[in-house]
Amino acid sequence: MLYDVIIIGAGPGGLACACITAAHGLKTLVLERKDTLGKKVCAGGITWNGLLKKVPVDISERHFCKQHIFTRFQTTCVDSPTPIIATVNREKLGREMAEKALQAGAEIRLGCQVTAIDQNRIECINKKSGSHDQYSCTSLVGADGSSSLVRRSLGLPVAATGIGITYQIPGDYPEMEWHFNSSLFGSGYAWVFPHRDSASIGAYVDARTMKASKLKANLLHWGKKQGYPLEQHKASAEFINFDFRGWRFANTFLVGDAAGLASGLTGEGIYPAIISGETIGQFIANPGSSTAALLNLIKNHKMHANMVSLAGKNTILATLIAEITVFGLKKKLLDFSAVEMAR
Ligand SMILES: Cc1cc2nc3c(=O)[nH]c(=O)nc-3n(C[C@H](O)[C@H](O)[C@H](O)COP(=O)(O)OP(=O)(O)OC[C@H]3O[C@@H](n4cnc5c(N)ncnc54)[C@H](O)[C@@H]3O)c2cc1C
Repeated sequence: MLYDVIIIGAGPGGLACACITAAHGLKTLVLERKDTLGKKVCAGGITWNGLLKKVPVDISERHFCKQHIFTRFQTTCVDSPTPIIATVNREKLGREMAEKALQAGAEIRLGCQVTAIDQNRIECINKKSGSHDQYSCTSLVGADGSSSLVRRSLGLPVAATGIGITYQIPGDYPEMEWHFNSSLFGSGYAWVFPHRDSASIGAYVDARTMKASKLKANLLHWGKKQGYPLEQHKASAEFINFDFRGWRFANTFLVGDAAGLASGLTGEGIYPAIISGETIGQFIANPGSSTAALLNLIKNHKMHANMVSLAGKNTILATLIAEITVFGLKKKLLDFSAVEMAR
């Protein structure tokens, strides 16, 4: 079957792209290997700026005007009259974004794993029926996350990834917290992101500097000291690709984590996925359209990648960068938005 646009992956990047291409009248198909929408290992944090720009506010579960930040030598609370970060339920976000894409006229096929790509011909297996289906398209969009098959089919390596581990702990957690401790988390950090009746408690690190097993051991050690019952729950972990090498390769496009557009510094990837998905959707529909939002994102991404490479050189540098940044936040020399991808 021939489509104008085939998008592989129904994460926020793929669905944002589908919504735009379908709204422009392009025959659009989204292929998603999972049976349900939105399921993803994620802390569900989204900056208020990003949320206001791109996500319906009623999707947020909780929002926080205060950010509690801890380093080895300081503690501070950044307080703002407006929320700084909100948490969203990824499944709800997925369902809402899919609804919009369907209303715009896109087709979404769940349970369809793409197994082979030959130029713009795609083979997939329908996991329910076991059938092998073939499709072809004019434009192919890889929105298939950090281990993207589309990216591999282009021969692009992934040399820079972060690793995120999260535990979803039931209970009422009142505050949003960030913990920088370079001996445990290198240039990364541990977080407490409260949701409606649970919290994501986890850690992120540049995978070039620490193995997942070591990060997990350090997170459990830290959690025990903080009094969080992490060991009683199941950990979920995934890599986060931040090795950006371009978004357009002839008629094949890469979006979100597949493009390596998540932040290497913080692991923030929902907003970059939506922005890149939308911009690329616009570009496919109208190659003369502005790509300014994507170019701005790429600029912020580069700054984050440089900072994480610098901080990853050694523990002393990572400590110094964290302490200076938090001191700047404490003295209001820096604004929290300085480290947001949505700025
Ligand atoms: C522990 C952890 C915590 C995180 N916390 C945050 C956070 O608080 N805030 C934030 O902004 N970001 C966070 N992120 C990052 C964020 O989850 C991702 O950057 C974001 O989901 C990227 O969106 P995407 O659409 O590019 O890819 P994804 O959301 O990964 O979607 C890709 C989709 O493609 C599908 N797919 C893959 N291969 C195939 C195939 N062969 N055939 C068909 N379908 C396929 C997958 O099933 C998936 O649904 C976190 C990540 C981790 C690991």
